[in-house]
Amino acid sequence: MQFDDEAELDASQVQDRRGIPGGGLAVGGGAIGILGLVVALLFGIDPGLFGAADQPAAPPVGKATSPAQLSAACKTGADANKRQDCRILAVVNSVQAYWQADFAARGRSYRPADTVLFTDRVATACGTATSAVGPFYCPGDGKAYFDLGFFDDMTRQLGAKGGPFAEAYVVAHEYGHHVQDLLGTMGKVGNDRQGADSASVKLELQADCYAGVWTHHATTTPQPSTGRPLITSLTDQDIALALDAAESVGDDRIQQRATGRSNPETWTHGSSAQRKQWFTTGYRTGDPAKCNTFG
Ligand SMILES: [Zn+2]
Repeated sequence: MQFDDEAELDASQVQDRRGIPGGGLAVGGGAIGILGLVVALLFGIDPGLFGAADQPAAPPVGKATSPAQLSAACKTGADANKRQDCRILAVVNSVQAYWQADFAARGRSYRPADTVLFTDRVATACGTATSAVGPFYCPGDGKAYFDLGFFDDMTRQLGAKGGPFAEAYVVAHEYGHHVQDLLGTMGKVGNDRQGADSASVKLELQADCYAGVWTHHATTTPQPSTGRPLITSLTDQDIALALDAAESVGDDRIQQRATGRSNPETWTHGSSAQRKQWFTTGYRTGDPAKCNTFG
């Protein structure tokens, strides 16, 4: 994945809360274990995971990397070609430029969603989340949350090969949830949150498909500010790394790694094969209408 060196990045789409100590909440104990491991692989959205009683914490004090610093560090595509945080920002810009154009073409209006970068824990409208839940989208405040340390976990604990485009896939998956939020698809889940045929799995596979749709259009979507695509090239290797990442976060794979066996009754995101299949459907067709995982 290469970015146009000259392209301007829009840092206003990413809030940098890294290095802010605490999320305000004492979430007792370190009882993570197997449940924690499974939860960590979510790319999830389930606010219940964060503890429904949690209130978003008061604005924390302490030294943070201010947004001004991120915007100073990440000005152009050249920065995105060099630094991980700038790259994530650039992917957010590209993904949102695509959905903006797609919604407009369908006579809908897209509401941009910020990404929040955090370390360790973060206060959200869905409660206080720790890094253990993995990247997630909170419908309550319409933001995507990433601890960039997850990408190391993805390679070290989940066995993914990783790489910039594996990370881009994760970002695009979370924005897939934002698209679902805007389209009202999230309401289909209700309490049907577990099992191979659950609405939760269908929602997650659709987010993978939407990530593939963006991938299809990534090198041809012009940025509003420049009229040129921000991403200038994607290789077969990039696509292979996205598929490898999708495989690594399949429920069957995660459960096998954690417990030595897989239990489809507790799946929330779909199997490795399904996640690869739906990413591929989106990537091949470039058409969100083909992401009909709900059937
Ligand atoms: Zn998800």
